[in-house]
Amino acid sequence: MLKVTKFGGSSLCDSAGFSRVREIVLADPARRVVVVSAAGKRHTADHKITDLLYLCHAHLQYGVSCWDLWRRIADRYREIRDGCCLTLPIEAELDAIYAAMRRDTPLSWIVSRGEYLSARLMADLLGFEFVDAKDWLLFDSAGRIRQAASYAALGSLADGRKIVTPGFYGALPDGTIHTLPRGGSDVTGALAAAALHADLYENWTDVTGVLAADPQLIKDPTPVSQLRYEELQTLSRVGMQILHEDAVAPVRQAQIPLRICNTFEPEKPGTLVRPQIEPGGGQICFAGRRKLAMLRLSCPQEPDADAKLAAVLAQARLAPFSVQSVCGELTALLPMEPGSEPLHRLREQAAQALRPQTCTLRENLSVLAALCRSSAAVPALTGAVEKSGAPVHLLQMCGACALMLVNDSQYEQSLRAAYAASRDLRD
Ligand code: ASP
Repeated sequence: MLKVTKFGGSSLCDSAGFSRVREIVLADPARRVVVVSAAGKRHTADHKITDLLYLCHAHLQYGVSCWDLWRRIADRYREIRDGCCLTLPIEAELDAIYAAMRRDTPLSWIVSRGEYLSARLMADLLGFEFVDAKDWLLFDSAGRIRQAASYAALGSLADGRKIVTPGFYGALPDGTIHTLPRGGSDVTGALAAAALHADLYENWTDVTGVLAADPQLIKDPTPVSQLRYEELQTLSRVGMQILHEDAVAPVRQAQIPLRICNTFEPEKPGTLVRPQIEPGGGQICFAGRRKLAMLRLSCPQEPDADAKLAAVLAQARLAPFSVQSVCGELTALLPMEPGSEPLHRLREQAAQALRPQTCTLRENLSVLAALCRSSAAVPALTGAVEKSGAPVHLLQMCGACALMLVNDSQYEQSLRAAYAASRDLRD
């Protein structure tokens, strides 16, 4: 039996966190492969180590000293080492990292050092071997993961041993460090589980698995005990921030069950993600994506409308949340992050390129996504949202998720109404 266990930054924010992780790992002899993130926030006003490393690099780009920031990073890792009564001499490593930063070292190397230091200390604390991710997570020169080569490399490096390996980074063919997107340690863990044919991939975080709704908006939402792989993928895509969206594919491909567990409540079962769920185990759960704009174009005479809109979006470097095309009616949902001005410019560019009969842009919207395994639940949920006084401007299906487009100012009331209605429905 082999369990690959990945611990996120909130589980590793200080020496108490490291000790808690040690207890969890050593409680089960099957937990032989451990993947770690960089230390995360200790409290809401704190900073993640990775964010501080990005900031160090930004300072150096403008010729500003990053000494104060670096000291905070080094102090955090020294506190972890000393608080766990370890004797690993990390001072020389810390000095070498600071010196390298000031020698114009690439950003990817700098920001990967949080995971590297976490893994070195965790390996020492557990008495496991340290395996550097640069030696097994291999990218091609375009930055794509070389899955077969990476699996083979980890297979021979791990070879039945107990190891700790850093998340978030690997190496390009020339040996230089390359990072995954932010939150990518989840992906590293999934790849390690698939590479080693693990029986289970445990992803340990600071919440008790997937909850039926955001606990900051709904009091004590029901825990979701089981999900299918594709359901978790869809929920992540539409805004649930529990696990990196790309972390599901490797375990889904290898059919390895994934359990999302809480480091602070290890006795709770969390959420188990598998190919199928047990009968009667399904329940409606909600996720959301805030601050979107809707661009609508009506161009029934334009045969290439979809391609032309895609080109306009690519030129504006805007990644849409979704694009739907029905009989010449195009609807794109776009993040509002670039602000109103670029979105209005985009509307003009789209109008010029597609010459639509009508072209409207509506801002400050949100998508409320409801995972419903039975389509009968959809009208009941939209009905409850509208009855609460929040108009549903658009309803789309994305996999088993019903996406309801509402005014951002009415998002919370919509969620409360839909959540209350879901309690009376059997999914
Ligand atoms: N430390 C990296 C980040 O903050 C990667 C990770 O935690 O998964 O994005």
